[in-house]
Amino acid sequence: MYYIDPHIHMVSRVTDDYETLARMGCVAVSEPAFWAGFDRGSVDGFRDYFRQLTQFEQKRASWSKIQHWTWLCINAKEAEDVKLSREVIAMIPEFMDQPGVLGIGEIGLNKNTKNEAIVFLEHLDLAAKTDELILIHTPHLEDKYKGTRMILDMLCDDQRLDHHRVLVDHVEEHTIGRVLENGFWAGMTLYPTSKCTPERACDMVEMYGPERLLVNSAGDWGPSRPVAVPDFIMAMRKRGHSEALIRKVVYENPLEFFGQSRNFVFTPPEMSEPAGV
Ligand SMILES: [Zn+2]
Repeated sequence: MYYIDPHIHMVSRVTDDYETLARMGCVAVSEPAFWAGFDRGSVDGFRDYFRQLTQFEQKRASWSKIQHWTWLCINAKEAEDVKLSREVIAMIPEFMDQPGVLGIGEIGLNKNTKNEAIVFLEHLDLAAKTDELILIHTPHLEDKYKGTRMILDMLCDDQRLDHHRVLVDHVEEHTIGRVLENGFWAGMTLYPTSKCTPERACDMVEMYGPERLLVNSAGDWGPSRPVAVPDFIMAMRKRGHSEALIRKVVYENPLEFFGQSRNFVFTPPEMSEPAGV
């Protein structure tokens, strides 16, 4: 089955991973800007990162016949430095019209601090003014419930935002309901150590239905599994779900959400299915 991974950090992965993804049926990936594992020292560090995301990574993906889209921001982990964050936000428009840039992300909260909220709101303002899609990171573990509520409150307070153009990622059982009720898209992240498992993602599809739901690996430089979406496909099949339902979640839904971006271009794969699940 063809699928799309809507959240994966390929700059942290090797070219062999692209090849493996392609063999498993992956035809496109979307890569939000994120934390590199260390705080960057200047706005120029981000400029080079954005050049990598918008100018090189598409080419590397294309070697394996995978399409690559990306998102730009300064992430919540580096948002404590409000001055640097403002410099980065001011620089983002230089890259917004590069091919494959779908919007602003992944923005959000990490430790739910005041500075993180300031920088989050300034990203929202940029997205509203430039009519960009938004991809949101919700915090980890003990900070998730409170952080997700804070994020949803800030989103709902901004009357300019169309909720169908916002994806709230890393939802779990205790946060997904509120995200969907408010008209947002929800992303389930399959991680080996935290967030969600393939089985729990199946549970959530069964509980809430497939509308506005996405599944991703959020593969990065830490413990993660870039082929987690095929794990979800297998888990859904084992429960007896139809191919049409699975395909909606892993292929049609990402196309519907990303298709709202003015920079969205997608060439459907050839008719022959690749080997894999
Ligand atoms: Zn991420």
